[in-house]
Formats: sequence, C-alpha cells, structure tokens
Amino acid sequence: MEGINISTKLFAAINKQIGFELYSGYLYKSMAIYCKLNNFKGMAAWLNMQAHEENEHAEKMMEHLIDRGYKVVLPKIDEPPSNFKSVTEIFEKAFEHEKHVTANIHKLYKLAVAEEDYPGQIMLQWFIKEQVEEEANAGEIVDKLKMINGNLGAIFMLDHQLGMRK
Ligand code: MG
Repeated sequence: MEGINISTKLFAAINKQIGFELYSGYLYKSMAIYCKLNNFKGMAAWLNMQAHEENEHAEKMMEHLIDRGYKVVLPKIDEPPSNFKSVTEIFEKAFEHEKHVTANIHKLYKLAVAEEDYPGQIMLQWFIKEQVEEEANAGEIVDKLKMINGNLGAIFMLDHQLGMRK
C-alpha cells in the first residue's frame, strides 16, 4: 500500500509514541490491580477503562501510519511499577504520567509542523485536545483525594463515584 510520504524522523517519533501509549495502558492496568486487590473496585474500574483508552490511542497512531503505507514496528514495552503505597500515590503518579504524555504529544506536533506534515498535524491535534481532558480528569481526582485527606468514608464515596465512569 502506498500513501502520503512521512519523514523518517517523524515516523520514528510517532512509532515510539505508540509504544509509550501502550506502556500507559500497562501502567494503568498495574494500578488497577493494586486498587482491586485493596478493595477499591470503583477506582480499579476507572483505571481499567483508562488502560483500554490508552490502547485505543496507540491504535489511532498505528492506523495513521499504516494508512500512509508505513510498517509500524511495535517497540518493547517497559515493565510498569507494581508497588504502590496508596490510592493517592496512584492518582498522583497517573497525573504526572499524563503531563509527560502531553509534553511528548506537543513535541510530536512541533516536529510535524517543522516537517510540514499536514496529515500528521491533523492526527496529532486530536491528541492535543484529548490531553487537556486527560490532565483535567486525573488532576480532579488528585485534588479530591487531597481534600479528603485520608478520610476512609470519603475515599470509598469517591471510589463509588469513579466506578460509575462510562
Ligand atoms: Mg494516551
């Protein structure tokens, strides 16, 4: 299949981000395991849904490259952390992780602009918008956990609320 040319540099950078999106899914899965094991089933459900979304992000980037006739080579995925101290730590880490993802996406977009890659820019604009949402969602949970400040009843109320994510 032949498609619209992409520079070697931009291709490699997007291909690398595919691995990072898959890693994100892996990370959230690991966090979900901790939550489920510690009876925070709502948070586990929220994180599992997040993991699923990350796989979709990777898929979206793969489709873009494949539609342009390029062979995506799936990179090795790092082992995510599996030792967590609390759900507060988990959501703080998730928030930090999303900030990292945002920085990556912005770098990719900058490169797509420099390379005058218009299809790549359009594809990445979806991710730029998505990251605003991702940071807002994770940031809101971190803020709430800070307000709750270890109150178990309130944590379980938040757990219940997060479990209702559709
Ligand atoms: Mg993502």
